[in-house]
Amino acid sequence: MCEENDKNFQGFLLKRIATDTMRLSEQDPADVSAANVPWFNHSKENDDRMKFHQRLITISGFLFLVALCLLYLEDVPKTFQSYHGNHHLTYRDSPLRDQKYVQHDHLNLNDKVCNHYEHLQAESNISLVDLRLKNNYDLAAGGDYVLPTLTPGGEYGSSIKPLKVIVMPHSHNDAGWLRTLDEYYVYTTKHILNNMVDKLRLYPNMTFVWAEAVFLNIWWNELEDDMKVQVRRLIKNGQLEIVSGGWVMPDEASTSYYSIIDQLMEGHQWILENLHIKPQNSWAIDPFGHSGTVPYLWKKAGLENMVIQRIHQATKGSLAQRKSLEFLWRQTWDVKGSWDMLCHVMPYMLYTVKHTCGPNPYVCMMFDYQVHKRKYRKNFAEPISLNNIQEQSRQLYEQYRRKASLYNYDTILVPLGDDFRYDSAQEWDQQYQNYNMLMQYMNAREDWKIDVQFGTLKDYFEVLRKSEEKKTQQHNDKNFPTVTGDFFPYSDKSNAYWSGYFTTRPHAKKFSREVERTLFAADVLNTFVTGYSRKWNVEYPEYHDISNALQQSRRNLALFLHHDAITGTSKEYVMQDYENKLFHSFNSTQKVISKSAQFLLSGGQSELPLILEPEEVKTSYDSVTKKQVLHVTKTGVPVILFNSLAKARVELTSLLVDTDKVIVKTSDHEEIPYQLNPVWQNSASVHQSQFEIIFLKKLAALSLDIVYLLRSEEEIKTVYPAKISIFNSMQLNIAPELMFEKEKPKYSGNYQGNIPLENEYLRAEFDPKTGLLKCLNDKRTGNTTRVDLTFMQYKSQGSGAYLFYPSGNAKPLQLGTPIIHVVEGPFMSQIEVIHPNLRHIVKLFSLAAEQAHGLHVQNFLDMHANRVKNLQDLEIIMRLNSDIQNTVFFTDQNGFQMIARKTNPNRYVESNYFPMTNMGILEDTHRRMTVHSAQSHGVAGLAPGQFEVMLDRELLYDDDRGLGEGVQDNRLTQTEFVIQVEYKEDFTTEADVPHHQQISNQPKSLETHTFPTILSMQINDLLQKPVIKLFTSVSTDMFKNPFQPVASALPCDVSLVHLRNLISSELDYTNSSLVLHRRGYKCGFPTRDAQCAIGPPVSLTSIFKDLSVYSVKEVSLTHLYDKRKLSPTTQLSIPPMELTTVQFSLDNVR
Ligand SMILES: [Zn+2]
Repeated sequence: MCEENDKNFQGFLLKRIATDTMRLSEQDPADVSAANVPWFNHSKENDDRMKFHQRLITISGFLFLVALCLLYLEDVPKTFQSYHGNHHLTYRDSPLRDQKYVQHDHLNLNDKVCNHYEHLQAESNISLVDLRLKNNYDLAAGGDYVLPTLTPGGEYGSSIKPLKVIVMPHSHNDAGWLRTLDEYYVYTTKHILNNMVDKLRLYPNMTFVWAEAVFLNIWWNELEDDMKVQVRRLIKNGQLEIVSGGWVMPDEASTSYYSIIDQLMEGHQWILENLHIKPQNSWAIDPFGHSGTVPYLWKKAGLENMVIQRIHQATKGSLAQRKSLEFLWRQTWDVKGSWDMLCHVMPYMLYTVKHTCGPNPYVCMMFDYQVHKRKYRKNFAEPISLNNIQEQSRQLYEQYRRKASLYNYDTILVPLGDDFRYDSAQEWDQQYQNYNMLMQYMNAREDWKIDVQFGTLKDYFEVLRKSEEKKTQQHNDKNFPTVTGDFFPYSDKSNAYWSGYFTTRPHAKKFSREVERTLFAADVLNTFVTGYSRKWNVEYPEYHDISNALQQSRRNLALFLHHDAITGTSKEYVMQDYENKLFHSFNSTQKVISKSAQFLLSGGQSELPLILEPEEVKTSYDSVTKKQVLHVTKTGVPVILFNSLAKARVELTSLLVDTDKVIVKTSDHEEIPYQLNPVWQNSASVHQSQFEIIFLKKLAALSLDIVYLLRSEEEIKTVYPAKISIFNSMQLNIAPELMFEKEKPKYSGNYQGNIPLENEYLRAEFDPKTGLLKCLNDKRTGNTTRVDLTFMQYKSQGSGAYLFYPSGNAKPLQLGTPIIHVVEGPFMSQIEVIHPNLRHIVKLFSLAAEQAHGLHVQNFLDMHANRVKNLQDLEIIMRLNSDIQNTVFFTDQNGFQMIARKTNPNRYVESNYFPMTNMGILEDTHRRMTVHSAQSHGVAGLAPGQFEVMLDRELLYDDDRGLGEGVQDNRLTQTEFVIQVEYKEDFTTEADVPHHQQISNQPKSLETHTFPTILSMQINDLLQKPVIKLFTSVSTDMFKNPFQPVASALPCDVSLVHLRNLISSELDYTNSSLVLHRRGYKCGFPTRDAQCAIGPPVSLTSIFKDLSVYSVKEVSLTHLYDKRKLSPTTQLSIPPMELTTVQFSLDNVR
């Protein structure tokens, strides 16, 4: 099957019948050897198969095509069949098969909208996707990339232009790295901030900038009121500028846009309330590469300018060649440039004093007047005196001039600081006094035409923008160049690539995403609680406690976005501190969800004790999140299902139960059919007291629904027990009283053909030797895509927490022969591959909804399993080799948008690794493969048709970037993916591919971005926001009716990013915040089974069915600026790709 392309579904079926016939007529040699297995004589199934066989031969004697039709018709079940029927039930027998969940088979995508998206490609002077391929990667002596520089001597003479220099004292405070957040605060940061107030008051022309709100908040809580007044005064007079104003300086590779916005909103709200200001300039000097999504988010929040530092030094060289280190950063889809963000790139290797005054680090080091020397053994700085001021000033002046030659606007920014600088009063004095003298001297030298001042980012950008305006007036073409794209991966020197951290400590990255979605759900439900408690006129006495819990959870998650936290680049004990904080957030947000659900479902009974508990639990920060096994009773266990998507979903959902005598009912007492799956006690034995049940539930947007599980001793008509097969084990132990159908154990070596999993739309085939995916057949078109999944390893030769530095290409991971379980039934089927370090599960669901259109992959990888350290110093990948003839591939940027990635075949593997937070796409002329991911990873597409995901890394050694240790806290980590292959709607067979469209190695110009298809957006949403389940072991009739608060679900292309309450520092409710995102989509692919609609207008009344909302207005992203007043019924205008933030109150305050 894998090698051949069936031309259509009919052909496929004919082939299948032929294969079945062949299989049945040949006796598998393994059968004989298995004769002594006790249940070998279990031949009822074989009898049935023989009957089927005979019947088939008879019919095929007449006419194959007629047989096909009959077979098809005969397979449709008229009623639910109980397991006593004792024939192997497949997806064809599914009672779900003919159920219709949507009104439409096909969404009518508006041609105009499709056309719009097709041409949504902004123009720019520089595309970073292209530039990566053109950079000069030559290294100078010492391993640095080459930057153009001014010819010596050019600093002087009559032709030099006036130069304005802003010297900007700063201190980079990591919110945890070699020490924890609290340790840094106590030992250093607190002193920096206290000295800052004293010294800025003492030196009125000195300035300072501060970025991280997380430290300001801790400090603020300790300050006396008069000190607070001083801080506000320093901000007001321009000496102190709060830059960026996020809770932290977030990593931009592994973070989702939801969480980036959340931490920015937390910081901005704090700053507005306590400092009464709105940050205008962004300062992100330490994140390891920069995302193209961030400038859009910043601009949306009201920031005007930004500074970045860590981008590939070779890219800096290219930008400098073009005098483009200052540019307008444009969104690839923003044709009009409405969201262009002015960005300044710092030119040299680091943000330390050594690398900021000019190109010569040895000269710059002479101008660092810090007394105690953390960085350098020797103090190179000579205090300024009358004796040396002329020579010292000359040296510094030359550096400034040489730096200025890289820029276009006769002004430069010279940051003066480093990590945790200005902690001692002495340092403040020395930096100030020496620089003050240097400035006075230089400014007095009229022949130098230089004006050097202390200043902040605000000062710098004011000068810069004025200069640009002047130039534009003089020569029309001198305005800032435009740039599209992003800056990944980052390299500082010597071909060292910071692409390892995209994956480092995947357990922590995964955990943060779990916290993200529980926080999101808790926020949504808490907002409904606020609204409904007013509507029902009932008290909700725990509001302050809950607000406190949510605020703490939000801040813990925000902290984890710090560029040494989610990146996994802190010391092991600091990582534990972060994860403990996340653990706290996970538990407390789950509690908020339980409390809110109980309140909303009970019609506002807040006085009752909390009886709901989460189905998913984590027992410690370092354990894998697990599902609880529900104890099913005769009186019934209510299970609450929360759909945190603002769209309806139809999905097969699973629960673990302690009995197979279970009936599943709706709140209307209707029995729900379910598939009974085994839970494995060990690799060969099925649990007798634990089972998985899989049932279908349709959930309205943001609804809480209820199902009941009841223990029954009667015969259950609605159960569909699975068929279980095992490979490469002598035994398959299933207690005789269990109703599973079992097959005799098989051996991979004897198995003919591939192992299939199949549903209405797809047939996936797996290699019987490895249990791994080989190909995917699309039944609509009859075409097969080869998707060969393998696990491989890179051997490290210098990789560390930051760097990926393998010793060569990936080699197959030697896993040995796996035990393979195949579980099949009418609702879903799955294959599970078991190795000592790795469990790999692939599921295929059978229903007419989005979930059935992809293969659901789970990996449980433990590089330290059983303390057998056989995976030491390795980096493990999952690679998909397909026959897709792509020339570029795409990854998402923070889940917000897609960007093209072009592999540079002349460069190293590590330089071709990119971050993926939730989606990667490969496509050729007629199909696309989307790999959806539930967490962030490093990914690559090193050859056409290839896509690999790094799963985990175990590294013995430090990579010399300051951390001082390797990465060896690996533990069991679950990763989740969906592999989806879509064929274009107008495509039916391979013959349709026009020859001229087939692979061309170099497209004329690179596509810089694409959009997900409608179906893939929905599949991704289901993966990112799984149904949240709660249950109670208390007998209760409290939960009667579902809670369905949404009048009209959001359209397919609109996502709910935030729905949450805003609170004051006293934890009082102030307002609510709604952030919506209209996502662009790719047309031309089938939309069958999408549960959403295209086009319905969105307003607050269309979202909130019952709630009254007041004081509605559109605001900037983080609520700093009002934009326009709205009414609850105003149709919200959300332009394509854009975010819209709405503020409203649930209190009738006016
Ligand atoms: Zn840092």
